[in-house]
Amino acid sequence: METHYSVAIDGPSGAGKSTIARAAARRFGFIYVDTGAIYRTVALAVEREGIAFGDAAGVGALLPELEVSFGYGADGAQRAYLNGEDVTGSIRTPEISRRASDVSAMPAVRAYLLDMQRAMARSYSVVMDGRDIGSVVLPGADVKIFLTASAECRAERRYKELAAAGSAISREEVLRAVIERDEHDSRRAAAPLTVAEGAVVVDTSELDLAESIEAVCSLISDKLGVKADA
Ligand code: C5P
Repeated sequence: METHYSVAIDGPSGAGKSTIARAAARRFGFIYVDTGAIYRTVALAVEREGIAFGDAAGVGALLPELEVSFGYGADGAQRAYLNGEDVTGSIRTPEISRRASDVSAMPAVRAYLLDMQRAMARSYSVVMDGRDIGSVVLPGADVKIFLTASAECRAERRYKELAAAGSAISREEVLRAVIERDEHDSRRAAAPLTVAEGAVVVDTSELDLAESIEAVCSLISDKLGVKADA
């Protein structure tokens, strides 16, 4: 039987998880799974249906109606589809970031999405990033990494991304949103953001992107005994 490796990368928003996880997946020839995009896609559907974000029953009833799927571009980037429509761009707004955090606190949503995420790891070697991958989704992952950075550092990175995309949001607003979302993700009862047992903490505050990718790839390489492509 073919061996499937699983690498779980968890951590708060803005620590560079998705960029680093995508780069690592490419270098090891694994599939990159951005689980935040799944929660974001559900949030977009809830918003479009006009369901109140506090309405757990309404959100629960919507879930079986949704077809959330992923495709991969030539560059390995994940594209998200909602009922066949490419929503990759629409799920990246600050509003959907907040809404994703709301829906992800609902136990029914997490339970519904659990199987989908596990099925991906059964079928492929994956680098999966999120908040609860090493603790809940893939507790038996071959490699567990908790990627973090100071709130100021993460806010600055997010601010630059948003400004480059033409947003008029201020630095202060971005920092406030980062701190708020951290609190929300860490304090919720359902799968709060924590360092999973056996996870190695990598703090990227003082590292640039290339150094962060190198740190993560050498950890994966050491644990799996597999070499990364340059
Ligand atoms: O990683 P990203 O910022 O795209 O995730 C959006 C939101 O989805 C997070 O704020 C978090 O609340 C939620 N999430 C989660 N569990 C995951 C991935 C994301 O609760 N595995």
